[in-house]
Amino acid sequence: MRIRTRYAPSPTGFMHIGNLRSALYEYLIAKHDDGVFILRLEDTDQNRYVDAAADAIFEMLKITGLAYDEGPGVGGPYGPYIQSERKDDYLPVAEKLIESGKAYYCFCDKERLDALSDEHGVARYDRRCLGLPAEEVQKRLASGEPYVIRQWIPEGKTAFHDEVYGDIAIENSEMEDQILIKSDGMPTYNFANVVDDHAMNITHVARGSEYLTSTPKYKLLYEALDWEVPVYVHLPLMLNEEGHKISKRQGDMSVADLLKMGFLPEAVVNYAALLGWSPEGNNEIFTLPELVEAFEPKNISKSPSTFDMKKLTWVNGEHIKRLPFEKYCEMALPFLREAVKTPGVDYKKLAEMTQSRVSFVKDCAALVDFIDALPDYETELYTHKKMKTNPEIALRGLEVSVDALEAQEEPGWDNDSLFALLSKAAETSGMARSQLLWPVRTALSGKPASPCGATELCELLGKAETLKRLRAGIEKIKGSVA
Ligand code: GLU
Repeated sequence: MRIRTRYAPSPTGFMHIGNLRSALYEYLIAKHDDGVFILRLEDTDQNRYVDAAADAIFEMLKITGLAYDEGPGVGGPYGPYIQSERKDDYLPVAEKLIESGKAYYCFCDKERLDALSDEHGVARYDRRCLGLPAEEVQKRLASGEPYVIRQWIPEGKTAFHDEVYGDIAIENSEMEDQILIKSDGMPTYNFANVVDDHAMNITHVARGSEYLTSTPKYKLLYEALDWEVPVYVHLPLMLNEEGHKISKRQGDMSVADLLKMGFLPEAVVNYAALLGWSPEGNNEIFTLPELVEAFEPKNISKSPSTFDMKKLTWVNGEHIKRLPFEKYCEMALPFLREAVKTPGVDYKKLAEMTQSRVSFVKDCAALVDFIDALPDYETELYTHKKMKTNPEIALRGLEVSVDALEAQEEPGWDNDSLFALLSKAAETSGMARSQLLWPVRTALSGKPASPCGATELCELLGKAETLKRLRAGIEKIKGSVA
């Protein structure tokens, strides 16, 4: 049978990384086997409905590339399935359960139910309406008395298998006769969920592990209706950096916030995949199509996963490196143009130099901000053990470099020629090449790290500016040594 999965969000708030992970895993389970992925909005609990939450869900799925395959609307474009638009489909199923004795009408009002609450405010229904004679029920229904429909939970034990958590069994006595249809005629969330999973032929249900405890109730409903139970894949708990469960009501960051901060959609998707799933090899960087290939539900872990901003940042940098250059250029140019105003600068070159060095595209600006004006720096920057240099050696290195560079014609002022020139000058003066290049790099950028090497910097800045900065470096060292 073809795999069919669904992402079934309740639009009660923004979409956080845990929600995205559920959507993604549902998508991957389906697509790994060429199956069908659908979107269903579970909005029957109108009190908790947050306007705009649904729109945000559509938008996030679009941006992250998790496209759903079908929905109401013949011939497409499909809309998602929306439970509040299907409300007439639930009552007949509940009535069928009443006919077979697996559910019953309950007329107990709020006051009575409140009175059943224990000292913790937890009410457990005492089945007062379970044995009502049929005529009485009919009379009360006919008189328009408000009612709910409750599921009758039989005695015994309910067991189910979960792909991640294994075999689970619970005593039915721990379950209440839950409401299936509310007094306003709307189905409860749990009931609509099961009816729709069946109606939509869902084969695999992936959702947060907080649903593990409700699953026996769902299983009993499937059995009562003689429906096939889907494969359950419960996902490990997701914690925020403070060690609390990630929640849209806890003020945890939304996927939209992460995108606004400069995380690429493909990085967020990649990172969400790693929150509870381990790829088989060492590689952790995947595009969505690569995830579809590699994803195996059997590699989902039971242990809670913790959101780690540092790791997400690393994943983002890796995805920036893999962006097609044109795409990176398009994204980086506004930042580079803002950071560098020197006429004649080759912005494409700056983009080239920065692409593999940033965790966020916007960070490219800070890498090139020395071009317009040399930042003030400490002479200590000239000390570098591996490069065998310190301010004194650097002074000589700079003097030798200035002599060599002064003689270089402008038409040959390019990285390769300059590199050959300085290598030769080092050799002739009996110094290591690094003892020229490190000081030159430092004097030109004024920074402990630059997006390219010494002679590339010379090319970038041009002859006049290069010599000016190198001479300033010489003066600076002399001033500090004196
Ligand atoms: N509507 C539920 C939620 O937003 C989804 C539960 C499920 O996937 O079955 O958490």
